[in-house]
Amino acid sequence: MAEMNFISFSRPSIGEEEIAETVDTLRSGWLTTGPKTGRFEADFGTYVRSPHALAVNSCTAALHLALAALGIGRGDEVITTPLTFCATVNTILHTGATPVLADIGPDGNIDPASIEARITPRTKAIIPVHMGGLPCDMNRIWDIAARFGLRVIEDAAHAVGTIYDGNPIGMATAEPRRGSDAVAFSFYATKNLTTAEGGMVTTPDAELFGRMKCLCLHGISRDAWNRYTAKGNWYYEVNENGFKYNLSDLQSSIGIHQLRKQEEFIETRRRYAEIYSSLLANMDEVELPPTAPAGSRHAWHLYSLRLNLGHLKVDRAAFIELLRERKIGASVHFIPIPLHPFFRRFANLPQNHCPVALNVYPRLVSLPLYPAMSEDEVEYVGRSVRSLLEQYRLSRSSAPRATNGLYRVVSKAS
Ligand SMILES: *Cc1c(COP(=O)(O)O)cnc(C)c1O
Repeated sequence: MAEMNFISFSRPSIGEEEIAETVDTLRSGWLTTGPKTGRFEADFGTYVRSPHALAVNSCTAALHLALAALGIGRGDEVITTPLTFCATVNTILHTGATPVLADIGPDGNIDPASIEARITPRTKAIIPVHMGGLPCDMNRIWDIAARFGLRVIEDAAHAVGTIYDGNPIGMATAEPRRGSDAVAFSFYATKNLTTAEGGMVTTPDAELFGRMKCLCLHGISRDAWNRYTAKGNWYYEVNENGFKYNLSDLQSSIGIHQLRKQEEFIETRRRYAEIYSSLLANMDEVELPPTAPAGSRHAWHLYSLRLNLGHLKVDRAAFIELLRERKIGASVHFIPIPLHPFFRRFANLPQNHCPVALNVYPRLVSLPLYPAMSEDEVEYVGRSVRSLLEQYRLSRSSAPRATNGLYRVVSKAS
């Protein structure tokens, strides 16, 4: 094999189609939210089967818009997971509501039983996060929401292309107990679909969609493109204390073509995940990420290992450093919310106690996984991880048996 360049943790797949569309927009005379964004919204709505899709400038904006448009604020509690990016919790705090952390289950997603245990008379909403693209147990979450009269906003930052129980994440359904109020996607540079920065929020509810659309642009009654195209119509009204969350046509130009490649991207991610899982199978030193249950599809945004530290002579930080020396960029998803100084003031309260998430954190290592990797690179990473685990394993006699009931324990065929 030729000398490997450094394999970065993430790299976008931008093709000539994205470049040509962006150039077309630059030459068109209309750069901000307009016809390209309209097309991107329509295409995305078709992809996830939702009649209402609103393009925004980040998933953070999408989460904040949904919370604000649902009227969640001071005095309310919103339950989410400790194993997420800070955006999920920051947006709850932005509304004035109080975040409440439910612990994670064995698969790394929020544990529905823990959600139920954290419900109080002040609870207004649940924000599940589909970690790494593995869908949460939404049927149980929707059932809890229906029983307690709660809103559900999905943080689907990792879940463009995830299928849950036969339906795409983000799909609108009128069936009771089978749908969320809003679903927030991220198009950040490292995510499955990127527009450099960007996001989308889908909802089955026309009225909620209208509120989000209005709040998205300063609470103004009509957007700039609509005023531009309605000739001579310079008049607008500010009806609410809105935000500035719209997505530009420049970014939507990238998104239109990224979306057309999503199915192919997901298939490549799935194939690469399978290569990792076969190269790392049957090792006591590591637990592999779970695959999606029947009827669902993992979007493989992340391939997150759990080291069995009791079997290794090195800790996670040393392991990541060893990977770096082999020109492999690894990462950690996520540093749990309670460990960040800013969140400690609420996260250390007893109702936010999350021992499962805190115990799993020192074991987490995400490997690079994206369609811009070559198969050679994937195999190089998988083989390097395997040889490091072998090189730094504790001798068998001194190692305790690896099993804490978490994740998928791939045991040796005996
Ligand atoms: C990336 C991410 C976000 C935020 O997405 P932005 O588009 O960068 O705002 C939110 N939640 C999770 C779980 C994420 O990974």
